[in-house]
Amino acid sequence: MSNQTLSSAALFLVATPIGNLGDISSRALQTLQSVDLIAAEDTRHSKRLLQHFAIDTRLIAYHEHNEDQQTPQLIARLQRGRSVALISDAGTPLVSDPGYRLVQAALQQQIRVVPVPGPCAAIAALSVSGLPSDRFVFEGFPPAKQGTRVNYLQTLQSEQRTLIFYVSCHRITDTMIDMRDVLGGQRQAVLARELTKTYETIRKATLDELVAWVIDDSDQQKGEMVLLIEGVRERGNGAQLLLESLLPVLVDELPVKQAATIASKVTGLNKNELYKRALALKENTK
Ligand code: SAM
Repeated sequence: MSNQTLSSAALFLVATPIGNLGDISSRALQTLQSVDLIAAEDTRHSKRLLQHFAIDTRLIAYHEHNEDQQTPQLIARLQRGRSVALISDAGTPLVSDPGYRLVQAALQQQIRVVPVPGPCAAIAALSVSGLPSDRFVFEGFPPAKQGTRVNYLQTLQSEQRTLIFYVSCHRITDTMIDMRDVLGGQRQAVLARELTKTYETIRKATLDELVAWVIDDSDQQKGEMVLLIEGVRERGNGAQLLLESLLPVLVDELPVKQAATIASKVTGLNKNELYKRALALKENTK
């Protein structure tokens, strides 16, 4: 096997549009045109995409029901020097889509894995949400069964990062009601529906308002959607909170220096700073 052939062997992870075909990148088109094989989640769906761009690369199916048998076959092709592109029905492969096993197996075999980045519904929704985007957590699809879903949401109650969910339109109302009940109706949330498509709708409101709106307007229960919820607001540093209740009690009962020493030991805060605050408290209560 020549070096040239070896270097062309790679698994390309190619992002495709989430609705608007204009969002495909020129690098994605170039890759899909030049690889030996495209592994697609749904070949009928992807055939339409490829036909639109006049790409006639061979397509094979790669989805959750055949990945066990397809993964070793694709790896064998890659090891023979072939190049393969993986695409899903929409957006970035592996983001709530198949591909994890293939990437893992390719890396284990030291096969080059190359990203061809592009659309992703979660990131597109986050970028327009107006919710904090410096730290966020992608949760994928919440559980379908209500009991399991409520337990799962309880584990997210104290999450401070912006939460991003994919939600099926069939479950949007029930899921949002559970989110409101478990996470609190006053949190800011964003429903981003049909992004990049004709009926694109992005609405930001409290969870209370958003639930009422979705229940009221059945159009909001249709299509593809991303739901984002602000993380729980930081209630202040735990040590500071403790200090606020502790220091006045200590100052009432003890000399300032001793109050500051104990408060510093309990909270871990700086003793000199606490001494100054304790002194100020003592002055104020004279
Ligand atoms: N891999 C895709 C990506 O990168 O976004 C996601 C695939 S996941 C199976 C499909 C889910 O993504 C949909 O149920 C919906 O929650 C979200 N989604 C996909 N396209 C969307 C769009 N145009 N607008 C809003 N949400 C979308």
